Amino acid sequence: MIRRCAIDGYFRGERCSCGESGSLVLDESRTEQLGRLVAGALRHFPDDLGLAMSPRGWVDLSVLGEVVGTRHRWANEALVVALVQSDPKERYEISGNKIRARYGHSVDVDLDHPENHDDILYFGAAEEEAAMILEEGLRSASQRYVHLSRTPEKAWHVGTFRTSNPKVIRVDAANAREAGVSMMTVNEEIVLSLPIPSPFLSLLPVQEQAALRSQYR
Ligand SMILES: [Zn+2]
Repeated sequence: MIRRCAIDGYFRGERCSCGESGSLVLDESRTEQLGRLVAGALRHFPDDLGLAMSPRGWVDLSVLGEVVGTRHRWANEALVVALVQSDPKERYEISGNKIRARYGHSVDVDLDHPENHDDILYFGAAEEEAAMILEEGLRSASQRYVHLSRTPEKAWHVGTFRTSNPKVIRVDAANAREAGVSMMTVNEEIVLSLPIPSPFLSLLPVQEQAALRSQYR
């Protein structure tokens, strides 16, 4: 659910970080419906909704406001703004009268986030997937960019969405970039990368894997 604090603005959940409960903007079920629609519009099927997307992934915010209103009578541009500003995952960004998804596209976009400078990055994979990745390199089947994590803990956590015991792959990001692989920082947790050749990939050492596993049990 989205609520609004008079001081801090929109937030998710029952209480703002300041402790106030604020006022209700959108209930749980509608927040989910709007979230799904906006994700589809900005990441997966802008064409189907009649949205014109720039090569960098931007669409017109007021047009998106109209589009969500045709799908759900209660939805509008202001609620899209509330969804974006309350999103703890920073999935979207608004610039002037334009809006885009920051990551997670299956449509072809050419994003321009700041260049990443981390030495090491991480990717959480299922066990059977990991062996193949180490041999053939890391790429996404459905997306242009691979989503990397900035800590082993986060990579493990992402991996657990698909498997109970993920393997964390360590990416030698400094040398991969040196070799021409472009990487961009999305936020504190996520880095987008073009496909990474296998020489820059290795499995996180067994002890470190074990430490992650015990930490999350
Ligand atoms: Zn507050």
